Amino acid sequence: TDLENELRAAIRTIPDYPKPGILFRDITTLLGAPRAFRRSIDELVHPYAGLQVSKIAGIEARGFILGGAMAHQLSAGFVPIRKKGKLPHDTVRVAYSLEYGVDEMEMHRDAIMEGESVILVDDLIATGGTAEGAVKLLRQMGANIVAACFVIDLPDLGGRKKLEDLGVQVRTLVSYE
Ligand code: IMP
Repeated sequence: TDLENELRAAIRTIPDYPKPGILFRDITTLLGAPRAFRRSIDELVHPYAGLQVSKIAGIEARGFILGGAMAHQLSAGFVPIRKKGKLPHDTVRVAYSLEYGVDEMEMHRDAIMEGESVILVDDLIATGGTAEGAVKLLRQMGANIVAACFVIDLPDLGGRKKLEDLGVQVRTLVSYE
């Protein structure tokens, strides 16, 4: 589609970052392109306009940028999901799997109430390990996860399928095989 072409043109690919053999998809160029940035946010939120979504939960760090804009557009609140040790108040914490090893992420315990409708967002889904951790945190707090949204899908790595198997609806704008 026309939007996909605009996004592909605005997303920069960096070979061998952060390691040899990896093609890093860099959305900073998309964030810096006024029209492509606006169209991305519009496209991410449009199915949820009028649905009474109460919070957008964004995954550190690029999910904060997208999530802040989405929250504004949907008149929702914003909740940061962060690497461990960064949030100042009581948190819930979960371990999640990375390509090599594990890490932990957390969210403020009082950030989401039982039954609240929440949309999760990050820039990109690869194996889905990061988003799966976020889903666990949100569900632990009793959130109703309306959808998980990403600008970029790397379908070969299986993340979308992993989230769908957890019963989460996934929305992505552009995929790279
Ligand atoms: P996953 O947990 O394997 O799905 O990896 C997704 C997480 O790693 C997200 O938080 C992404 O921001 C980050 N990530 C992995 N690969 C890339 C990339 O090529 N560009 C930008 N972020 C990436």
